[in-house]
Amino acid sequence: MKLFVSDFDDTLFRSAYPPDGWDRDRDGYWWELPESLGPPCVPKVPGMEWWNQQVVKRATQLIRDPEWFCCCLTGRRTHQANFSQRIPWLLEQKGLLFDLVRLCPADGSDQGATGPWKLSVIQRLARRFDADEIEIWDDRADHLADWEAALLDYNVNTVHVQEPHRQCRGFRFRGRQYIEVNDD
Ligand SMILES: [Mg+2]
Repeated sequence: MKLFVSDFDDTLFRSAYPPDGWDRDRDGYWWELPESLGPPCVPKVPGMEWWNQQVVKRATQLIRDPEWFCCCLTGRRTHQANFSQRIPWLLEQKGLLFDLVRLCPADGSDQGATGPWKLSVIQRLARRFDADEIEIWDDRADHLADWEAALLDYNVNTVHVQEPHRQCRGFRFRGRQYIEVNDD
């Protein structure tokens, strides 16, 4: 069995970065909030421009292949916003029926824990399926390097995804509100 692992944010999906006027100290940690994956910054049903077509194509290909066990692992936290429903729903409406979709559990709540948590899931799956090949796509070069170093017993291929960040467009954040702005 072979193992395919994809990250979600900035790998499969072009998640919205905060709008102009967003101040982390005043307004909070953006990636905990539903607007980073939903209205008004991301449409309820995002069009294809929100997806990285190269990663979608590869995932779709391997999901169809019975030799591959395909999973999407994201550092988004299970207990934050509506992510536990929203992320699987987004993947399904895109036709990406992964064998496994996992969000980072609440007990790994400090931001540094994503890399080690994903590695532990990958190691567990690799052992369970006696994986002879592991392919990992992620936008975090530091994570990929750590995992390559830890997975020396396996044949590992990593793909570092690098795409321009997509800002929340059409809105400015002011006085705790989204103010619609005209882009023209
Ligand atoms: Mg990412």
